[in-house]
Amino acid sequence: MSHPAERPDSHELIRGRTTLGDFELTVLSDGSYLLDGGAMFGVVPKPMWEKRAPADEQNRILLGLNTVVVRTGKHTVAIETGVGNKLSDKLKAIYGVKEQLPQAFAAAGIKPEEVDIVINSHLHFDHSGWNTTRMPDGSIVPTFPNARYFAHRGEVEHGHLQLERDAVSYISDNYDPLVNSGQMTLLDIRRGEMQEIVPGISVEAFPGHTSQLMAVHVDSGGRRACYISDLIPTSAHLDITWVMGYDLDPLTCIEERKRFYSRAIPEEWLVLFTHDHHVPFGYVELSDKGKPVMKRT
Ligand SMILES: [Zn+2]
Repeated sequence: MSHPAERPDSHELIRGRTTLGDFELTVLSDGSYLLDGGAMFGVVPKPMWEKRAPADEQNRILLGLNTVVVRTGKHTVAIETGVGNKLSDKLKAIYGVKEQLPQAFAAAGIKPEEVDIVINSHLHFDHSGWNTTRMPDGSIVPTFPNARYFAHRGEVEHGHLQLERDAVSYISDNYDPLVNSGQMTLLDIRRGEMQEIVPGISVEAFPGHTSQLMAVHVDSGGRRACYISDLIPTSAHLDITWVMGYDLDPLTCIEERKRFYSRAIPEEWLVLFTHDHHVPFGYVELSDKGKPVMKRT
């Protein structure tokens, strides 16, 4: 039983809504959470990043966990599934996680049973957490029982390696049960390759944060939105070199950001941010100095 005072208001649950051609896009939040500001901005000095992202007394900055639900008219597609409910109490406290994505779906009037496609850009726990739900008896069940899930095969394989560097980022209960039951389809695309999931929804490999990170393209009415995921996690990370300490290959991230902007800016893609709690989406333009910045609307 949740205490009424703890119940998040609808603005905390639903972070944005827009249309793109014939499609409806709704940004649902698994809640804000807190990560170390230094880790989020890599080698960028704190006096520079803290102007954009103020840090608390533990040096943590506020981030979002944005799931984008696309209703195409034929399909209901969920891009990314937040942190979920499988973290230990200790990690939950460190990150300040809220486990609210199911409430966000309810607030938006979208039943989990309606979702027929789930796409994970990569399989870090803060992107695939509600793929499955841990029940009170400890069992793991798919959160979206009627969905076909899509992820990159290389992400599952990397998670299974449990490397010292990033073992903590991969929780196998978020994907192994779905792979084993046949409910998750594993993709094999390489850098720059695209694959259609359903008409109007496709994925493209943009490696760097992980070796197989995929962006999700949403195309309707001659317009494109792009969920660029952790290649550009928030609107405070637009500068080409402001990559994260978490990125496995920062040099590739920089090259892939250039490749992204070379199309996203001239073609006026609507950029959907995975971890920006305040700016869930927007357009990017070049400033007078030639730097990517959010377009003022
Ligand atoms: Zn992330």
